[in-house]
Amino acid sequence: MTWLVVGLLSLVVLAVAAFPFFRRPKTAPAASDPIRELRAQRQAVYRDVQGMYNDWVVGQVTEADYQRRLQEYRMQAALLLQEEQRLLDVAHRLEQEVLERRGKRGAKAARCANCSRPLATGVTRCPACGAQVAEASVG
Ligand SMILES: [Zn+2]
Repeated sequence: MTWLVVGLLSLVVLAVAAFPFFRRPKTAPAASDPIRELRAQRQAVYRDVQGMYNDWVVGQVTEADYQRRLQEYRMQAALLLQEEQRLLDVAHRLEQEVLERRGKRGAKAARCANCSRPLATGVTRCPACGAQVAEASVG
């Protein structure tokens, strides 16, 4: 009986200890989202700039070094921002395209010219009022 309790307890302890390791993949979705990844990188650059500024304030970095590195950081951030913007543009364009296609498909889902009820594709007569379906609204 005691054995069983000890065994169960150690299992519970093990599960609790191992839990964070199993959870880790869930908390790192950045790799699957390049835009978010770029944003994180840019924020890291800003943090570096802040850190360097703090170093400069307390005199650990010379004015010349500060200016030179600031220039580098600016370039880095600008490139990251540019790439981020480009990806956002692509994502936006794709979204737009999907919406357009969806809209076209929506337009094809014809309505009866007589009673304006929605018609299934391919029908020649409106099932509600029996009106002939116009050629253009089929398919
Ligand atoms: Zn009809």
